Amino acid sequence: MLSRFLFLGVCLFLDRRAAAFVPQGRHVVSVRPTASPRLTGAWAPTPAKDSQLSMKLRFGGGSNQVSSTMIKKSTVSKVLSRVALAFLAIAMVQMPLAAHAAKKAKVVEHLHTGQKVANFFRTFGIPDLGVLAIISALPVVELRGAVPVGIWMGYPITTVLPVCVLGNMAPIIPLLYLLRNPTLKNLMAPILKRAEKKAAGLGVGSLEKQWASLAAFVGIPLPGTGAWTGAMGAFLLGMPTAVALSSIFTGVVSAGVIMSAITLAGRKGGLAALAALFAFTGKEFLFGSKKQDFLEADPYWDQSTVPVNVYKNKAPFTGKVVSTKRIVGPKATGETCHIIIDHKGDFPYWEGQSWGVIPPGVREKDGKPHSVRLYSIASSRYGDDMTGNTGSLCVRRATYWCPELKADDPAKKGICSNFLCDTKAGDEVQMTGPAGKVMLMPEEDPSTDYIMVATGTGIAPYRGFVRRLFTEKTPAAEAYKGQAWLFLGVANSDALLYDDEWQEVKTNNPEQFRLDYALSREQNNAKGGKMYIQDKVEEYADEVFEKLENGAHIYFCGLKGMMPGIQGMLKGVAEKKGLEYDAWLKGLKAKKQWHVEVY
Ligand code: FAD
Repeated sequence: MLSRFLFLGVCLFLDRRAAAFVPQGRHVVSVRPTASPRLTGAWAPTPAKDSQLSMKLRFGGGSNQVSSTMIKKSTVSKVLSRVALAFLAIAMVQMPLAAHAAKKAKVVEHLHTGQKVANFFRTFGIPDLGVLAIISALPVVELRGAVPVGIWMGYPITTVLPVCVLGNMAPIIPLLYLLRNPTLKNLMAPILKRAEKKAAGLGVGSLEKQWASLAAFVGIPLPGTGAWTGAMGAFLLGMPTAVALSSIFTGVVSAGVIMSAITLAGRKGGLAALAALFAFTGKEFLFGSKKQDFLEADPYWDQSTVPVNVYKNKAPFTGKVVSTKRIVGPKATGETCHIIIDHKGDFPYWEGQSWGVIPPGVREKDGKPHSVRLYSIASSRYGDDMTGNTGSLCVRRATYWCPELKADDPAKKGICSNFLCDTKAGDEVQMTGPAGKVMLMPEEDPSTDYIMVATGTGIAPYRGFVRRLFTEKTPAAEAYKGQAWLFLGVANSDALLYDDEWQEVKTNNPEQFRLDYALSREQNNAKGGKMYIQDKVEEYADEVFEKLENGAHIYFCGLKGMMPGIQGMLKGVAEKKGLEYDAWLKGLKAKKQWHVEVY
């Protein structure tokens, strides 16, 4: 039903655009057989009106990444076949459409935005095809605005379309590379933020789905979509450049087909082209939402087969980095990165486990290989791309502040965290594990409440939990009836981790998911001091104690230093309630409700 409304909405929008092109009543349009010196026409991009019809196209949710496996031959051949199909479609409609267009020898009253922009460039003596390429390259106008201008210039669609496609793609390639420059990225921060919001739905699901989402986002000519926004969204989501480019290219060609059809054949042409676009990209949405259960135990909660230490120091596994992305804002204290590692399905793990990483090189002091460092896995067992082939880490770059130099001392920076945060797509990582069973979720009782307390990168295992409980289509998520409550403590709002994902889960599961932040440098506790994680948990002490009394499981993960404060707070609350703290804690541990992993 929803998709019908969406389709109807798109058709209405396209119909409006089409109506603007098709001469109606008093509009008399003149189409010159050759490039005309001056453009006139009834077409105008009308963003204000269009925005009334704007609709939010979402093809998933949350933030996310793409695996490098997308750059596979199959994808390339799919792209080529889709583009070939698109051009074939144009060729097929071209002859009757050209005849249709030729019939419309009429005049127009107004010059509209695209045409005015074109005329502006003509004043510099630029040839019309050059003008067409330039206006296709401009944000906002893009190919969708340029195609009608090209047709009014009198060029056949077989000329207009390739010129507009090339023009539209020309700035996208450098844009994707330039955005890697931190200064430019900072300068463009407000635009990027807007793009991130608009393209937020592109980052989730299988690789095919992400590729198709981006192509559809770029290809369906609605306000707020397009190649520029799509490219920024793809960059922010950490899509590999080649994948983003192939998807955007398909989208641009599709938009060209739709706009050509609308311009030349009105509503019917637009509908036919839109139907073709859905045929290219729609199957991922229609059939891509099947159940995700291929990595489940039988029954799904049975922990007897949890893998532990399959790969050891002496024979580590070699994983390949898919992407490494900084995930904190400029004012965060330190740098934290989200790193996706491809294990090709050969290194399975459960939510709450850790991977070991052996940094390359040898120790300075004795020339022996570096020792293994553990990192909590920040994805569910299916990985961020739901293929079961990847796992993610959330790593804070360890630096050493030298009080004498009053600066970071590069000689003392953390070996492994710096290695991981500096990795690039394709880099190899020596790995061990999976390690640990302390942080597993007791899934047998689906009404279990979870209280998850984190400082900084201690959030990692909970990302796996929350995805498994709320965002995936697993038997675990289907069965879950309890409440999951996440407490995260960081220095300031720029240091928040995965906030967009939590907000989305909260919106979709207001009864089942609770979220509380302790921002030590931005908030004050009840006593007027800095708001640390224990202060935030204490605000809800009664509820927390009640939940624990009723069988909730509580988890603590992050820096070792968090535990004394937490324990002190819990002890104080317990005593106020007339409970003997040590006995109370012993009871929780005996019932396996108490889980701690600090480092
Ligand atoms: P190292 O090279 O081991 O150095 C350690 C520290 O000493 C650094 O802070 C460094 O700056 C400092 N240092 C180095 N040389 C000197 C010197 N000469 N004088 C003074 N100081 C010096 N970390 C995460 O980021 N994310 C996680 O999800 C995560 N999960 C973990 C899970 C578990 C179960 C455990 C045990 C740890 C986890 N860690 C996690 C921590 C991680 O394992 C590493 O300890 C951390 O990344 C630092 O390792 P490193 O090799 O970068 O630093």
